Amino acid sequence: MSHKKDSAALQALDRSHHLHPFTDLQNHAEQGGRIVNRAEHIYIYDTDGQRMLDGMSGLWCCNLGYSQPQIAEAVYRQLQELPYYNNFFKCANQPAVELARALVEVTPAQFNHVFFTNSGSEANDTNIRLVHRYFDLLGKPEKKLFISRKNAYHGSTIASSSLGGMDGMHKQTRGLDYVHHINQPHWFANGGELSPDEYGLQVAGELEAKIQQLGEDKVAAFIAEPVQGAGGVIIPPDSYWPEIQRICDAYDILLIADEVICGFGRTGKWFGSETYGIKPQLMTFAKAVTNGYMPLGGVMVGDQVAKVLLAGGGEFTHGLTYSGHPASCAAALATLDILRSTNIIEHAAEHIAPYFQGRLREFEQHPLVAQVRGQGMFAALELVADKSSRKRLAPDSAGAIYCRDRANKNGLMVRQTGDAMIMAPPLICNREEIDILIEKLAIALDETAVHYQIR
Ligand code: PMP
Repeated sequence: MSHKKDSAALQALDRSHHLHPFTDLQNHAEQGGRIVNRAEHIYIYDTDGQRMLDGMSGLWCCNLGYSQPQIAEAVYRQLQELPYYNNFFKCANQPAVELARALVEVTPAQFNHVFFTNSGSEANDTNIRLVHRYFDLLGKPEKKLFISRKNAYHGSTIASSSLGGMDGMHKQTRGLDYVHHINQPHWFANGGELSPDEYGLQVAGELEAKIQQLGEDKVAAFIAEPVQGAGGVIIPPDSYWPEIQRICDAYDILLIADEVICGFGRTGKWFGSETYGIKPQLMTFAKAVTNGYMPLGGVMVGDQVAKVLLAGGGEFTHGLTYSGHPASCAAALATLDILRSTNIIEHAAEHIAPYFQGRLREFEQHPLVAQVRGQGMFAALELVADKSSRKRLAPDSAGAIYCRDRANKNGLMVRQTGDAMIMAPPLICNREEIDILIEKLAIALDETAVHYQIR
């Protein structure tokens, strides 16, 4: 069978039997898609033989790229020694115990406990269970409400998608009635004539207004990503997080930082909470904790909450068969070992991220690019037809979709969200590789400008 035929046969099987996540199922059944079957360093290869620079680190998870034998070997060794045992009923396994300790060491000081899940979605469901249990044990059972933000992404289960603020998801499922949403700190889209800092304060103030409206005695927690990722890499104005922290402190409201994307170096420090100087009581992680090699998520539980849970007595009736799966924990231990022994996070923050952000700023001269925003190895470009009026290229984000398709065709994997091009390249990129990313992006932008006849 020729290479090409292999690919066509696989694509036919995929179209016939495989329902893809976040995909137009009818369109996929008719047209199929790309099948990625190999990866090396920061490059992915598909079955048609195309090589692409992965400007998205997989799905924001392969921060160390695809060639980390130490992680693969740790998983293999673990599978031979103990492929599975659970952490229920007074049992544990060695990698889960060691990983709990390692996570306590790398996360901010208030975190001394962890609850393991398989994914970010389950970790956010776990947050709800933890928070409800916490206030029940405190004798405040009426504190059950959550406040989140529009356009947030917290996962795809019923509970985590309810916490999220994605319109398209809410339209397709009836969410939980105890979750409320305020606006996101998206200055470019909603700031109007206000300065970023004025807007940051105003939109943070919506949290206080919402708490007052719902009642301080009813609101349990506020959940947010330090930087909204899937929503479009929404970098908050500098005034935003200090005001949110002030409000959470002033009322008896727990702050949950969803660090599923921001965690493990993406924003320049180990955690986005450190970049933005916030002190959450709970912290969701997943993705890059195993460098994407194995599924693993969890919640870091701060001392304030842990103290109550540990003193409470009675069973916490929550858990997953694979909470603390030994092979996933072995992958995470190896990942943390690499991060700690090589200073990759610090190196990327000092030497690569400033270069990446600086080169992206060159696109401010491009006729299509109205805003470049970013933090660390995380960035977005807002595309417009006209910079002064911020008129978009085409309805339904078609301009950014076109640009993404051109980039993909030219060997660069980037994503589009709304009218923004978004990027999260691996932290291990060097400057030459950033140059290649920028070059390919420039070609895609130029091709998009030609297509829409913008000069
Ligand atoms: N929270 C955030 C901030 C995320 O970006 C994601 C995934 N993109 C999730 C939660 C859900 O994680 P998972 O897909 O592992 O369930």
